[in-house]
Amino acid sequence: MEQKTGRKYFEFDDRLMELALATEQDIQPAFKRIEDIAFINQQKVLAAFIGNGVGENCFTSSTGYGYGDVGREKLERVFADAMECEDALLRHNFMCGTHALTVALFGVLRPGDTMLCVTGMPYDTIQSVIGISKQSASGSLKDFGIAFEKVDLLADGSVDIDGTLRALRDNRSVRMVYIQRSRGYSLRPSLTVEQIEEICSAVRNVRPEVIIMVDNCYGEFVQLSEPCAHGADLMAGSLIKNPGGGIAATGGYIAGRSDLVELCSYRLSTPGTGREVGCTLGHSREMYMGLFSAPHVVGEALKTASFCAGLFSRLGYDVTPQPNECRADIIQSVMLRNPESLIAFCQGIQSGSPVDAKALPEPWDMPGYDSKIIMASGSFTLGSSIELSADAPLREPFAVWMQGSLNYAAGKTGILIAAQRMLDKGLLTIQ
Ligand SMILES: *Cc1c(COP(=O)(O)O)cnc(C)c1O
Repeated sequence: MEQKTGRKYFEFDDRLMELALATEQDIQPAFKRIEDIAFINQQKVLAAFIGNGVGENCFTSSTGYGYGDVGREKLERVFADAMECEDALLRHNFMCGTHALTVALFGVLRPGDTMLCVTGMPYDTIQSVIGISKQSASGSLKDFGIAFEKVDLLADGSVDIDGTLRALRDNRSVRMVYIQRSRGYSLRPSLTVEQIEEICSAVRNVRPEVIIMVDNCYGEFVQLSEPCAHGADLMAGSLIKNPGGGIAATGGYIAGRSDLVELCSYRLSTPGTGREVGCTLGHSREMYMGLFSAPHVVGEALKTASFCAGLFSRLGYDVTPQPNECRADIIQSVMLRNPESLIAFCQGIQSGSPVDAKALPEPWDMPGYDSKIIMASGSFTLGSSIELSADAPLREPFAVWMQGSLNYAAGKTGILIAAQRMLDKGLLTIQ
């Protein structure tokens, strides 16, 4: 493909550029759907800003206790409206997604309760929180007398609803049904909000009082609505993923039923002070801007994922989801079949990043994970995965999970640089 300026900034094989062009034609149906969803979600967010009267005064900073911080309070209202739920905590004080999920779990569960995960084994870092990982963890739910059970997914990756109902009937101490929407480092499909709704209504039929909580990481703004609009009581996620729009520098959220959000606020700060404390230290403006940009940025990430799926399936790799498949999160996995390809892909993504392009990622033992992990992320915010990034545990079937890109042109370029690196190393062939 001729580069319009007549200048070449990167050396791409001509056959690779031809494949890229063909790929973009293949994925037009996905692009149209992504744009339609972003248009609706952007309107929802804009309406929440306007409806709550966001003004310049919301961007002022507070220190100390942060009592009466109008910007912080209004942002939580805006976010609750954008997520279509009763209430929300949206704070820079959440250190990561795992922290937000942990606050929610400890906020609502009590000794003697059982947490029932119906999406099989939860995301790696949550296993330490529950107290079931190989690493010893003190202060886990288990240490506080909260039990854990799981219902494995069916062979096709869907939730075993019959098994879930059986577990609920057999164990009256189940107080929470926990659903992980995104695939995490697994190859199961991510759950759509429609599938989540199906689980919620089945659970409600037998045990209406059970709390249904969703790990919503990577799912925000991917579909037209969120899990709490489909029957879930509580959800949590990270602001250095989708809802921070690539602008929030840190943080997380918990959203859902107001009585539960209040319990979580007592765990986030203290019983009694709850949500009334928490100074914003100048973070508010970025959090507002990030939330405002999130529907668009998520769309750009989805286009990048779709391009990656299309290009690598044309290159002969198994990918999931498929290039034009409806998506429930921003993650794309590509089965790269061997460690060399995995490492080359991740190093390629890193070398095509705006920050730390010269760094060479290598597999390492990361806290909270059970196998060696290689991570590529040349991002403005450390560890941000709404920015173009790729990670992979070094284990069968040597799949890479890529996600993000604040804009499609940059994402497409990064993916091409990764493919070119694999080509240069003789790890892939183009017929
Ligand atoms: C990212 C993620 C988490 C944890 O988030 P961190 O910000 O990395 O702590 C939890 N669950 C899922 C499914 C995730 O993708």
